[in-house]
Parts: sequence; structure tokens; C-alpha cells
Amino acid sequence: MRASGSFSTAVEDLSKKALKVIFMIKRKFHCTHNNTPLLLKLFDSCVKPVLLYGSELWGPYILNLDKRLTQGSNDDLEKTFLNFAPEKVHIRYCKYVLGATKYALNIASMAELGRYPISIFVILQSLKYWLYLYKDPLLNFSKLAYKSIEEVDCTFPCTFNKHIFKFLKLINFDHVWNNKGTMSEGKLISAVKKILQERYGNYFFSCLSGEKQNKLRTYYKLKEEYKPETYTKLNIPKQYVRQLCKLRISNHNLHIEKGRYNKTPLDQRICTHCIDNKIEDEFHFICECNLYHEEREKFYDDIVNIIPCFCNLDNFDKFKYLMNCSETDVLTRFLIYIDKCILIRHSSVGIIA
Ligand SMILES: [Zn+2]
Repeated sequence: MRASGSFSTAVEDLSKKALKVIFMIKRKFHCTHNNTPLLLKLFDSCVKPVLLYGSELWGPYILNLDKRLTQGSNDDLEKTFLNFAPEKVHIRYCKYVLGATKYALNIASMAELGRYPISIFVILQSLKYWLYLYKDPLLNFSKLAYKSIEEVDCTFPCTFNKHIFKFLKLINFDHVWNNKGTMSEGKLISAVKKILQERYGNYFFSCLSGEKQNKLRTYYKLKEEYKPETYTKLNIPKQYVRQLCKLRISNHNLHIEKGRYNKTPLDQRICTHCIDNKIEDEFHFICECNLYHEEREKFYDDIVNIIPCFCNLDNFDKFKYLMNCSETDVLTRFLIYIDKCILIRHSSVGIIA
């Protein structure tokens, strides 16, 4: 803690310690097969306790709930979540789990895994701590300290109490503040968790809508529900997860994305692997490009044997079905098809170069 009373140094220190734990996980659990569920469990059980140690107390100050919620707009709470210093460690870990690069958009990397901001966990912990403090306030030192703060609350600009009060007001839970002790802890925590997760889900889809002309134009068409995607849970080679994730969240090197970095106008990001004169985007790569025609024919024949009506779908519906597929036998074949296409593309780029 700094002389000013700021917790930021402590939070930086905890982030560094959490990164060391992540480094150890990467060393010990390096695997060629997808181990996403295990890696996420390890984050929650080994990294989060280090990263958020004592956060029930410092969380509301670092989130600066009092000030931000006073000045902010309605979605300011969710923006605050994503700017929360420990969230950066969480997001970095999500990208590592998915095999995405640092250029992948943060909200998309979390959404593929169905992960919510860890700020939600911090707020719930703070609420639990607040409930603990005001019950029987004369029992120990921390409760006595809380009682003293409550008595002088109005003279201090930013106390733990005020952060909690502003937060409850923001989510229309004033009644909890006004009638302390009338709601059971379990019900309050699960109700607040539900509200915060719903709010974040809505915020995510509004961001996605704002990105529909930009980097997440394909993801906007695909992502319909805030949940972990099936492919992230399958026992398959890790590279398959990485390849599909990168195509879904536009973190690949097709021309549509490479052109963004060298500022090529959108209509000039043309596929150089066929003569169709079309933009090389995810749809063209999966469903149209002639370079992969042979592999595609074999793959489609295979899928029709499993789902006969697949051949009746138009190209975009095929694309959407495959990219969102949750049927393991189809999905596994699709992942192998993508892998083959990427290999073909690599060798084609090599010949051209
Ligand atoms: Zn092409």
C-alpha cells in the first residue's frame, strides 16, 4: 500500500505473483492435446486466489466504483470491469488457453470461453465481506473499525461503505442497503451475480454490434449466446482449437485481416489463391476458394453421410452451421478440414513467395 493509502502497488505486486503461477502452469501442463477445461480450472483454483488476494477490501477502491459510478454512463460499470488491472492477467490467460495472439480482441477471447470478468467475483466477495462486517459489529477489530467508519462516513469522500452503497444503488438494490439484514446472504449474492452477468452479456453483444463493420464482422454473425463454445471442450489436438478460434475471432492471416495492418482498403483485400477476385475472408476460405475445392468436396460428402440435409443449405448457412457446430462427429471432421486447408494455403504461399 502507498503512503497515500492507495492499493495500486499491492495490486501490481499480486499481478506479478499471479504471472509467476501462470508461468509454472505453462511449464507443467504443456500439452499437444486440448486441455482448456483443466487450464481454466487451474486458473480459478491456483491463479485467482493469488491475483485477488484480499480483493474483498481493495477491489472496490481499485475498481473505483464510487467515483466512476457517480460520473459514468450506464455501461460504465462494464468498461470499468475490462480496465480493472487484474483483468488484464485474466484476459492474457484466456488468449494463452485459446492459442490466440495478443492482437485478438479481449472481449472475443473471453466470450469464446464463456468467461465473465473477474471483477464480478471481486464485487461479490466485497459484498460478502460487507455483510460480514455489519453483522454483530462489536465482535472483533475489523468489525469495530467498520463501525467507526460507518459513524464518520459522511466526512470521508471515498470509504468502503460508500463504494458498496453506490454499487447497490446502480443495480437498483437500494433496498438491501436500507434494510440491512433482511435478505439472506446466499440469495443476495446469487441475485447480484445474475444481474452482473446479464449486464455483461448485454454489454458484450452491444460491443459486438459496434464491431460488425470492423474486426469482428464474422464473429458478429456467428456468436449468438454468451457461453463456452463446444470446440474448446473437446479432446482434440490443440492446434485444431487454435485454428478454429482464430477463424472465429479474426485473429488469422487471411488477407481480410492482414490488410487491416497495412491499411489496404477493404475491397482490395483480394484472395490471391484463386481467380474469383473475391475478398479473402473466413467465408471465402471455408466455403468458396477454389484452392481447397478438392478437400471441400471430400469433406462435404463426408458430412452429407452424417447429415443428409446439409447439401440443401446455401453456402452461408453451411458456413454458419459449421463454424457454430456443436455435434462432435461433424465438428471433428470440420477441424480436420480446416487444418488441411491451412496446410494447402501455407504451401501455396510458399510457392508464390
Ligand atoms: Zn480464393
